[in-house]
Parts: sequence; C-alpha cells; structure tokens
Amino acid sequence: AAKDRGKGHYVCYTADMGQRIQDAADLATQLAAAVDNAELSVVYQPIVRLGTGRLLGTEALVRWRHPRRGLISPADFIPLAEETGLIVPIGRWVLGEACRRAAEWWRDQLAGHDLVMAVNVAGRQLREPGFVADVAAALAESGLPARCLSIEVTETAVFDDERAIAALHALRDLGVMLALDDFGTASSSLGLLLTCPVTTLKLDRSFVESITTVARQEAVAMAVIQMANALALNAVAEGVETVEQAALLRGLGYRYAQGYLFSPPVPADEAAKLWAGRQPCGCGRCDADSSGG
Ligand code: C2E
Ligand code: MG
Ligand code: MG
Ligand code: MG
Repeated sequence: AAKDRGKGHYVCYTADMGQRIQDAADLATQLAAAVDNAELSVVYQPIVRLGTGRLLGTEALVRWRHPRRGLISPADFIPLAEETGLIVPIGRWVLGEACRRAAEWWRDQLAGHDLVMAVNVAGRQLREPGFVADVAAALAESGLPARCLSIEVTETAVFDDERAIAALHALRDLGVMLALDDFGTASSSLGLLLTCPVTTLKLDRSFVESITTVARQEAVAMAVIQMANALALNAVAEGVETVEQAALLRGLGYRYAQGYLFSPPVPADEAAKLWAGRQPCGCGRCDADSSGG
C-alpha cells in the first residue's frame, strides 16, 4: 500500500489523486457547458457496400473541441458523460443533429435509395424513461423515416437489463433499426440475440485487425456472418483498414464494411459529397474498381 512506501510517497500519491479528482470535476463542469457553447460537433463515417463501394449510410460520431485542450476523444469523455448523466442531454443533441442531417440527405435523394444513419446510444440513455419519446420526437421533427435510423448499442449496455431491453423493443416498434456494436467482445453476445430485437451485427474491429494472418480471427468472422445470415440480420465489419481485409471479408460473405480504408469520420459537408462517389476498396474485384468510379 502507499502507506508502506513512506510518508513522502503517501503525500505525493494523495496530492496526485486529489489533482486527478479535481481534473475530472473540472472536465465534468466544462462538459456540461460544452453543448451550450457549441463545442460539440458530429462527424460522419461512411458505411459502404463491399463490392460497389457505394455508401449504405453513415455512423454519427460525436467530437468535443475543448477550448484549451483541443480535441478530446469520445473514448475519454463518453464514460464521464455517462457517470454524470450528461450523456442524456448530449445524446439527445447528437440524435437531433444526426436525424436532421440524414433527413436532408434523404430528401435530396443523395443515396438514390433509403440510407442508414447510425447513432450510438449508451446504456444510461437507453434506461432513461424519456428516451424512446426523444427518438420519436427526433424522427418527427426531422422528417426522417424510422427505417433510416439505426440505434447502435453495445452488448454490455443491454445485458441483463430489463429496462434497456424493453426500450429496444419499443424502438423496434417505432421501426428503427437496432445494431449490436462491437459485436463479439462481451460475454453475453449470443443470449442477446434471443432477447433483443436486433437487426444488425457490427463485427468488432478486434476480429478484423489481423484477419488476414490470424486464422482464428477469420474463423470468428466467418462464424459471425453465417450466424447473421441464419438469423436474417445485416452484418457490418468494423475497422477495415486494408484492401486485403476488405477482400477477405467480402469473400466470407460480408456485404457492408466501415473503416479508414474507405473514409475516416468527416464533417457533414464532406460526407454529403461522398454520397455522390464511391469508396472503392481496391481489392481488384470490386465493381467500383472496374467501372472506375
Ligand atoms: P464505435 O461506435 O464502435 O465507433 C467506431 C470507432 O472506431 C470510432 O471511434 C471510429 O472513428 C473508429 N474507427 C473507424 N474506422 C476505424 C479503423 O479503420 N481503424 C480504427 N482503428 N478505428 C476506426 P471514435 O469516433 O473515437 O468513437 C469511439 C467510441 O465512442 C464509439 O465506438 C462509440 O462507442 C463512442 N461514441 C462516439 N460517439 C458517440 C455518441 O454520440 N454517443 C455515444 N453514446 N457514444 C459515442
Ligand atoms: Mg458505433
Ligand atoms: Mg463499434
Ligand atoms: Mg467500438
């Protein structure tokens, strides 16, 4: 224990801890103001069809530009937002932004077909009594058809939580799509497929990372696409960074993918331009490569 290491160390340790607690408290205060101060923004990462390189839709990802610290990753502030409950107003704002943007693209027929706007939702948001009403309101206010919205939740956010699962059923009744994000990383994956009305599995990028060299990763990716097919679910491979990964996933039967190979998350005006083109993966077998889009 710190006490055994001598007095000096003990004092140093607590001071450090105190500083960390103060930092977290400061950050929470600043995060509370971030929505009002327009420090939050939403970027959009394309979800593409393997084979044509055409966009199926985009995933909305929140960004926080802190006035002094610069860009703070959601991995660093979403947990804080969950602890403090700030995720509720933040999430409501992201949802509104994403729906407005998607409705614009949908009305402009940018996709030439129905598009998907994926929005991440934390467990804390799902359990909030007003959440389903918030989603219905965001759809009504934007005019986005419910089938064009995909709510992404992680397995841990809904595992063993009746309120969260009830919310998923209510969302599905509204007609929105439901994706299990980072699929395969929690211990509860399979049971959830029986209790939750999901429409989409997002294969976690940890299974894609070394898929071309690690046979077990390929085997898991194959098992997931076979299961998705058997259950009539959509499957999206996450974190695709190389043409080899894209080609292999396509060979396994994946139709949709997301990753830096196609595009990083980009601001809305840039994303709007991506609809017009294609994001060929360069695998040499894509229609997009041969037709030179
Ligand atoms: P996620 O929903 O699994 O989103 C995918 C993350 O992977 C994003 O990180 C994205 O930028 C990153 N990514 C995309 N392609 C690649 C790739 O090819 N390679 C690698 N290494 N990474 C890739 P980001 O934007 O930092 O978001 C991290 C997580 O924060 C998200 O993971 C999601 O769980 C959470 N998050 C982001 N925005 C929101 C939000 O509005 N609400 C909530 N509740 N959570 C959010
Ligand atoms: Mg996601
Ligand atoms: Mg994910
Ligand atoms: Mg993830």
